[in-house]
Amino acid sequence: MSFSSLALNKSLTDAVKALGYQQPTPIQQQAIPAVLANKDIMAGAQTGTGKTAAFALPILQKLSENIPTERPIRALVLTPTRELAQQVYKSFVRYAENTELNIAVAYGGVSIKPQIDAIEKGADVLIATPGRLLDHIINGSVLLIHLETIVFDEADRMLDMGFKDEIDRILNRLPPERQTLLFSATFDDAIFKLSKTLLNDPELIEVSERNATAAKVEQVVYTVDSDRKRELTSFLIGSKNWQQVLIFTRTKQGADALSKEMCKDGIKTQSIHGDKSQGARDKALAEFKEGKTRALVATDVAARGIDINDLRYVINYELPYIAEDYIHRIGRTGRAGNDGLAVSLMSPSEVWLLEAVEEVLDSRLMQQWYPGYEPDLTKTEPSARKNTLGKQKKQGRQKAFGDKNKSRPNRQRRR
Ligand code: AMP
Repeated sequence: MSFSSLALNKSLTDAVKALGYQQPTPIQQQAIPAVLANKDIMAGAQTGTGKTAAFALPILQKLSENIPTERPIRALVLTPTRELAQQVYKSFVRYAENTELNIAVAYGGVSIKPQIDAIEKGADVLIATPGRLLDHIINGSVLLIHLETIVFDEADRMLDMGFKDEIDRILNRLPPERQTLLFSATFDDAIFKLSKTLLNDPELIEVSERNATAAKVEQVVYTVDSDRKRELTSFLIGSKNWQQVLIFTRTKQGADALSKEMCKDGIKTQSIHGDKSQGARDKALAEFKEGKTRALVATDVAARGIDINDLRYVINYELPYIAEDYIHRIGRTGRAGNDGLAVSLMSPSEVWLLEAVEEVLDSRLMQQWYPGYEPDLTKTEPSARKNTLGKQKKQGRQKAFGDKNKSRPNRQRRR
């Protein structure tokens, strides 16, 4: 199948050809005709499947068919993070290169003024994070009454990050007659509930099994004591000569500490997380992409949307508290048809987190020991260990989700 057989016009097919895309990916094959036919869609697709073009190309085609003299915002893409907003913006700009359409982006953490200027010049498409979009709406710099299409990109993540209130407030400003496209890597009750309020007779599109991990990613779990994880991380990277490795920690402090220690081990490492300025995050990411930095340590939120086609290695230094994050993490590798390896370093006290991941994946991950880094099983008596694990499980979940999100552990257990 070719892009032109999807009834896309020449300016768009030329743009994708220039990017080296030879044929549409499965999500593009299914979503493009549906979006062109003005249908609402609910699509299960994670980053790396080509989902951005799956909504961007048909949106651009429809907008370019009739460009009004006044240039109101007619398409809006909501993303959970600044990184993803930047990524989606860049894709739109590339795809729209041969059209007259203007694209703008709005996210927090940077000055609002240049964003206002870009929007005032007449943006046909706006890509935005929910918080900054609301700032613009309240300021009067964004008006959404002419909106034709809204996209919720990584909708599961938006809900996990607590954007439900912002989403509701934004929805109140939209015209009721509109096309809504919802993309989510994972599905749970919260997403289905949101979809019911948003979508009108949607076409359901699933390119892989629900909650499936990227097909070509090999997953390995090493059981290792927590106090030897850093040593094993540096050893794996050094001994196997891995050149570009994305490492996940659960906390910002953990990311900074690990990055410092790894530099001492001789591995050039930087960290990115929400406490760093946008400029510092962009710089760290650029240096990682260029290969100036060998390892990048990131928290889940900061890593969303990182798009490096040839990223081969992901290390879960700690397993995530929210099991679905595992899918997002390992989806950073194995992109655009490349192979990937995701290594999880699991301390004996994290077994319950692995179980939650396995429940979401609906499959078991084999645990193994790395020679020389076997866990010290004499540290805890088996019976005491069981009790400790039970206690940690409870405490960990309470700590991770807090009072506000009491329902999350249940969501995690359900599918
Ligand atoms: P996405 O899932 O939208 O983040 O896309 C993942 C990567 O695949 C991006 O680097 C895109 O440029 C690339 N891509 C998207 N569609 C295609 C295609 N049809 N052929 C080859 N690469 C693609």
